Amino acid sequence: MATSTPVRIPSKMKAWVYGQYGKPEDVLRLESEVDVPEVNDEQVLIKVAAASLNPVDIKIMAGLFKATDSPVPTVAGYDVAGVVVKVGSKVKEFNVGDEVYGDIHEHALNNPKGSGSLSEYAAVEEKVVALKPKNLSFAEAASLPLAVETAYGGLERAGFSAGQSILVLGGAGGVGSLVVQLAKHVFGASKVAATSSAGKLELLQVLGADLAIDYKKDKYEDMPKKFDVVYDTVGESGRGNKAVKEGGSVVTIVGGTPVVPPAFVFEVTSTGTVLNRLKPFIEEEKLKPVIDPKSPFPFSHTIEAFSHLQTGRATGKVVIYPI
Ligand code: NDP
Repeated sequence: MATSTPVRIPSKMKAWVYGQYGKPEDVLRLESEVDVPEVNDEQVLIKVAAASLNPVDIKIMAGLFKATDSPVPTVAGYDVAGVVVKVGSKVKEFNVGDEVYGDIHEHALNNPKGSGSLSEYAAVEEKVVALKPKNLSFAEAASLPLAVETAYGGLERAGFSAGQSILVLGGAGGVGSLVVQLAKHVFGASKVAATSSAGKLELLQVLGADLAIDYKKDKYEDMPKKFDVVYDTVGESGRGNKAVKEGGSVVTIVGGTPVVPPAFVFEVTSTGTVLNRLKPFIEEEKLKPVIDPKSPFPFSHTIEAFSHLQTGRATGKVVIYPI
């Protein structure tokens, strides 16, 4: 229960730190004498219970965004769930003892760091966190923020609305598994189609897909019936353009390769507002976390967890728990 009683906070903590760019297995180190971050007026200090991994962790660690990145050494990680142990003087919504979750970096690529989630404590802006839905464990909660805010934001930006059809490219991944559920159970899609390899087709249907397409066997762009919206999570927006109706939207979250209109790139901005908006759907279990079956990985096995994510074959989200 939330309380104003101060909690004893150590001065040093364990955290996964990288001091140079490279692959997680080469550059990421578990350090035990990292300073516990100070909170500024707008931040809360979270005692981290769980975190989840995202492909952006690997990309930013590889140095792909050096131009806009904040300096190393730094603590890795975006998604967090845990308990508030300290609040800044201007924090309004949270108290010590609150169970919260969020993507701690408002802008994923633009000077994102300060404090990462793969640590025992994280200092986080109030505006990017939300109270954890009571029906979620910490591990489940940590799986959601960056992926669900991306899924929801991309659907909104594409103008997706009730009664429309959608094709989700990569329906079994961290983001795609949430796009499928949101489209079907929150936005009220008339038809949801999604792609995956053969072993994950059943999962797509469980999540709400009316049509599960094996991308190794079927060419979705040749299907005669086109879609109002295509949501690309794998970098196939060119093929997506051929699967969309005239005047429809193709939203891709994968930059790096050329994106040709009507396809456009969506980049997530972290905000607790989306998490709050989705809370009723999470509590009604219309929107469920999808945790990769190899997860959760304990904190000390974070490198192994990154290796699994790097295969590009994870199902749903790779979670680190307990921390
Ligand atoms: P994941 O690592 O969770 O995606 C893995 C999944 O992708 C697997 O289940 C795999 O299924 C599936 N997959 C791989 N290739 C294909 C394919 N050709 N067709 C269909 N499915 C495929 O990644 P995320 O969902 O977390 O992220 C996806 C991408 O989006 C990443 O590049 C990430 O960096 C980016 N991203 C961008 C954001 C933004 O704001 N722009 C925010 C979040 C993510 P299978 O094993 O069946 O192939």
